Amino acid sequence: MASLKLVNATKEYVKGTPALKELSLDVADGEFVVLVGPSGCGKSTALRLIAGLEAITAGDLYIGDVCMNDVASHKRDIAMVFQSYALYPHMTVEENMGFSLRTSRVPKKERAERVLAVAETLGLADLLRRKPRELSGGQRQRVAMGRAIIRQPQVFLMDEPLSNLDAKLRGEMREEISELQRRLGTTTVFVTHDQIEAMTMGDRVAVLCDGVLQQVAAPDVLYTEPANLFVASFIGSPPMSILPGRVAGEERMLEVGNAQVPIAADVLAARPGLAQAGEVLVGIRPEHAALASAEATGAIDGVVRSTEGLGPDTFIRIDHDAGGHRPPPAPTGEDADGTDAADGAISPVITVRRSATATATATVHAGQRCRVRIDPALCHFFDTGGNAVR
Ligand code: ADP
Repeated sequence: MASLKLVNATKEYVKGTPALKELSLDVADGEFVVLVGPSGCGKSTALRLIAGLEAITAGDLYIGDVCMNDVASHKRDIAMVFQSYALYPHMTVEENMGFSLRTSRVPKKERAERVLAVAETLGLADLLRRKPRELSGGQRQRVAMGRAIIRQPQVFLMDEPLSNLDAKLRGEMREEISELQRRLGTTTVFVTHDQIEAMTMGDRVAVLCDGVLQQVAAPDVLYTEPANLFVASFIGSPPMSILPGRVAGEERMLEVGNAQVPIAADVLAARPGLAQAGEVLVGIRPEHAALASAEATGAIDGVVRSTEGLGPDTFIRIDHDAGGHRPPPAPTGEDADGTDAADGAISPVITVRRSATATATATVHAGQRCRVRIDPALCHFFDTGGNAVR
């Protein structure tokens, strides 16, 4: 086992258009790090650089203390699990799992013992004679895992390994893989576009957008202290509502739409940047927004657009009067330098979560006028460039 380190790793498939820009990331020995981001953000590219399936254009990759830039893929002591599983269809489970041992000339008896041990760990011992087509999706996924584990590599790389499974099985496999990784203690980099996978599986999560690392932190830190608007909007489901607002620091007042809400002194003291912030984008998690009574002060006016009951929670989506909603810019827009991060970031609705145990149980229906209470102590604040105000 070993640590893994990327230093300013850049990949240009096409000269001048980097798919990955100066990625620096330290993965500790035995750590489970998830790379997450929307399609095309460079996750697989990062993984392929680590695996040696693509050459680094600039920057360095270390496994342990050894620079791997020019080391061939098969000499990096890495095992990869792909979305497609890439099992050999004509081989049995046993042959698939033992294949790498056979090519590295491990004696037959030892091979059989190691295959059986891994198969038992993964609950595959009764299926060793089957071919991949005779297995369920979950079982195939486990064989692919088994094939990686058996090599006892320094590093596991997993590229969307759960994407082909149905929702229930994905949930089960999430737990299974996390538990297995903890037990084996093998350094792991796991790629997914699914933020729930990222948040539930990783010791730390690295969020990428357009080839650029946005933030790397433990899941709860990403959720409670997103570094910028992208992370704030990407992590959390339903997402944080983003509204335009203004902080009048001297008067200690937050204005959002028609609402004027006093900001407590301790909130300003905890985020000194707020005092000078002026125009801000205000982020509100669904669990921190609440419906207010008609007489309440410091609440935003709105109209219920829809309600979505999920059993334990109901999400109420509210068209608000805070303004500022514009359609997202075209991908080729002129704000590529991020100076106009508000474009497309402002939410057309505020999402309020009401839990089934909430005391306020009055029914809410589409078209109804309502008010949303805002608590500055629970809000996230971003400057107009999209960076968190701290
Ligand atoms: P992700 O895994 O986050 O979906 P990728 O790392 O696959 O993203 O791709 C990042 C960017 O690099 C995308 O814009 C993609 O089109 C581009 N890209 C990926 N592979 C190649 C390639 N072999 N040649 C040219 N461009 C590529």
